[in-house]
Amino acid sequence: MTRPARMRPVSHRLAMVTMTFVLVASVLVGALQLRMQYLDDVAATRGRLAEIERSLVPNLAEAVWMVDGERIEMLLDGAMGVWGLAHARVATREGEVFERGRDPGDGAIQRKRFALVHHGHRAIPLGTLEVEMDDTAILAAIRDRALSRSIGVAVAISLGAGLMLLLVRHWITRHLESMVRYARAIGPDTLHVPLALAGKPSRTRDEVDEVVEAFNRMRITMLEDQLRRRRDELELTAHRERLEELVAARTRQLTDTARELEAQRDAVQRLANTDALTGVGSRRHFQECADRELARAQRDERPVSLLMLDIDHFKRINDTHGHGVGDLVLKRFAQVLQHHVGTAACIGRLGGEEFAVVLSGWDTTRARALAELVRTAVMAAPVAVGGPGEVAYTTSMGLATWRPGGPAPSLERLLREADAALYRAKAAGRNRVEAASPA
Ligand code: GH3
Ligand code: MG
Ligand code: MG
Repeated sequence: MTRPARMRPVSHRLAMVTMTFVLVASVLVGALQLRMQYLDDVAATRGRLAEIERSLVPNLAEAVWMVDGERIEMLLDGAMGVWGLAHARVATREGEVFERGRDPGDGAIQRKRFALVHHGHRAIPLGTLEVEMDDTAILAAIRDRALSRSIGVAVAISLGAGLMLLLVRHWITRHLESMVRYARAIGPDTLHVPLALAGKPSRTRDEVDEVVEAFNRMRITMLEDQLRRRRDELELTAHRERLEELVAARTRQLTDTARELEAQRDAVQRLANTDALTGVGSRRHFQECADRELARAQRDERPVSLLMLDIDHFKRINDTHGHGVGDLVLKRFAQVLQHHVGTAACIGRLGGEEFAVVLSGWDTTRARALAELVRTAVMAAPVAVGGPGEVAYTTSMGLATWRPGGPAPSLERLLREADAALYRAKAAGRNRVEAASPA
């Protein structure tokens, strides 16, 4: 893992680098200048030696000629005022020595010996003047100059660097800091706030302004993107809601349709199970109901009786009073039957004027009693046919019973047996109940 780099302001670095560079450069240039100055100064000492030869040597020769030691001393004292002169020594032929300063030895940069001569009729040698120049004074002067120059350069560099620091801070760094603060704070809810730099004059335009402009362009792009996304989300939500509404409506419709279909199916079922004219069960419904009852009787080991009823001479009623009256008779007959047997029992119209009833749990005796009750009730209830007239009619019935312990009950067989008994009742004169003889 890399450690985050330490924060070092650009202005500081810039100031440091500039200061170092200027310092090194000025030291180099200064050193070069001082070196040239030194060489100039050294060259200048040669001129001074010439000056000494021109002015001091004749005077000294005259003083030695005159044997004026005091004047020699005075002249040497004066010569020591020459800049760079380290040592002067006068030696006369008589062996007298006058000396000022100290011989610099190897440190001498100029060393010269002048012959002291008296010019009369002929030249008379009087002695010698030896002088040595050294660079102590030159170096001291250069040192002083270098010191004051260094102080000046240091002050100038410090001031320059400080000024640069201030300018960089004023022009760049403080704006960068503002941008960093802005970038840190920006989020989805603040995208609409533009980046603006306080204290940035609008008349000058620089890279900072370009960065701000680029920043704001990027912000606007992001804002547009955000708006587009929000709009898409809203549209999506609206679509979804519309779709949900549609689905709900469609579901309601389907539920209603299903309910309607169920009701229709129930109605159709009821119609199919009911005889339209009389309201008792249809032949098919009767068969299903009877089969169920027979199976239950077998399971519960209880007897079950089947009563078959047929209106007597019904054709004659139709022929005499018309088909409408015949229908009315059929309806009334069904009502009487339902009244005595109960609507819960299996009652069916097998066809025409023929009906059948399943009596669950009833043996022949109980069933015969009920049959008799129905037969007398029919006789006692003739059908009114408008005006004073009424149609009296009778029924014949055949009865068959299944008793537990025997073979499995069969509707077909019971119907056959009851039909046979009914046939016998008809044959015996009608309006009577005949039971099938036990098998
Ligand atoms: P029996 O005493 O031997 O039973 O004689 P019947 O006349 O009752 O018997 P038959 O089988 O000869 O006649 C039945 C008649 O019932 C014939 C038919 O026209 C009539 N019929 C059948 N269905 C209907 C109906 O729905 N309405 C009316 N009005 N008549 C019907
Ligand atoms: Mg009949
Ligand atoms: Mg019949």
